Amino acid sequence: MQFFTWIRPLEVKEEGNTLRLIAPTSHMQDWINRKLLPQIRAAVAQVKPQNPPEVVVEVGGDYNLAAEPAPQNARPAGGAAVVEVEKPKTAGIRHNLNPAFTFENFVEGKANQLAAAAARQVAENPGGSYNPFFIYGGVGLGKTHLMHAIGNAMLKNNPDARVVYLHSERFVADMVNALRHNKIDQFKRFYRSLDALLIDDIQFFANKEQSQEEFFHTFNTLLEGNKQVILTSDRFPKEVDGLEDRLKSRFGWGLTIQVEPPEFEMRVAILLQKAAEADVRLPEEVAFFIAKRLRGNVRDLEGALKRVIAYAQFTQQPITLELAKDALKDLLRIQEKRITLENIQKTVADYYKLPIRELLSKRRSRNVARPRQMAMALAKELTSHSLPEIGDAFGGRDHTTVLHAVRQMKKLRSEDARLEEDFNNLIKILTN
Ligand code: ADP
Ligand code: MG
Repeated sequence: MQFFTWIRPLEVKEEGNTLRLIAPTSHMQDWINRKLLPQIRAAVAQVKPQNPPEVVVEVGGDYNLAAEPAPQNARPAGGAAVVEVEKPKTAGIRHNLNPAFTFENFVEGKANQLAAAAARQVAENPGGSYNPFFIYGGVGLGKTHLMHAIGNAMLKNNPDARVVYLHSERFVADMVNALRHNKIDQFKRFYRSLDALLIDDIQFFANKEQSQEEFFHTFNTLLEGNKQVILTSDRFPKEVDGLEDRLKSRFGWGLTIQVEPPEFEMRVAILLQKAAEADVRLPEEVAFFIAKRLRGNVRDLEGALKRVIAYAQFTQQPITLELAKDALKDLLRIQEKRITLENIQKTVADYYKLPIRELLSKRRSRNVARPRQMAMALAKELTSHSLPEIGDAFGGRDHTTVLHAVRQMKKLRSEDARLEEDFNNLIKILTN
């Protein structure tokens, strides 16, 4: 019954590691988000346990619908007909915002505090001084979530705001479509008439010259009219290869902020938050366990949590540490296999441009001793090897030497921003 009503009408699109479920109406989108999404996610996590795709529910079909004002009541369900609307200034446009991504359920911590604070500012004061607002950072760190949160908040503040969210690939596809159907003028008019344009993952614009050109003009028109532009990318704008310089430099006109990988406490908080959202009781020790073992990004954390929840549902057991370990066995084995002591030594040696043999030697000069301490601290942080095992692997050192290194690094990192950065970079390299 549910299947025929809610699931069957959905169109499924796979984009990278995201599964887009396209619902014919926003009512259906709402309903699925509220009632079915946890189940769908759990099912998907069962099918692809190693790397469960993110599932998002959107409204709409092809270019016509995305790019043209189409009030909900006038749109035939699932149809692709274009409906002409006289009043362009209505909230009837397809904003593509996912109501599940809000500020309320965005967990803040050191890693994203600035980005979140700025995002709230932008939502409160669109077209203000943070324009464009550019969020960058690694995969699965909450960029898309924040972007939707801004859009949703803008709509809440002003239901008539013409806000549109688009993945950059979608923008490109829409443009190509518009060209093919001789609708490029409509396309331009539409995008240039917005109050806020949110374009996700602009690194996908790379080497698509015509799209960049069109985007450049849209972008300028919006900025000139004090309309808000929000962009995300996986790296700092200037470092996106294949983007025209004039675009890169414009991106820097407003505010550019990075989101970083979450710290342990934040990872725990995110897990507890996600569990609460799914209406699941997650014992703290299980949250600690997952957060300790998975440190890469939030998407992986969520993936692990979904797995545990699905496993508990299917076996009809409560979530315990035991069960979580069981559910995540394979996933963690892969992680552990990747991060070995040799791996850490090699990575640190490469990073500091030292031969590994120096790292393992008895030399005590600082340019060797610091990297060595760094490597030992990373070994403690990223593997489950004991202090004596780590000491052994580092040229037969005593476990107290390792303990000293771990403490020393912790202290130094809090005092020396460079070291802290090295540490985070190395973790990123080792866990990606
Ligand atoms: P990105 O766009 O940076 O790749 P996403 O925004 O898609 O990452 O985030 C991946 C998943 O992690 C989403 O389900 C999102 O809700 C969740 N997420 C990321 N950061 C946070 C956070 N700080 N609080 C709550 N959920 C988060
Ligand atoms: Mg994203």
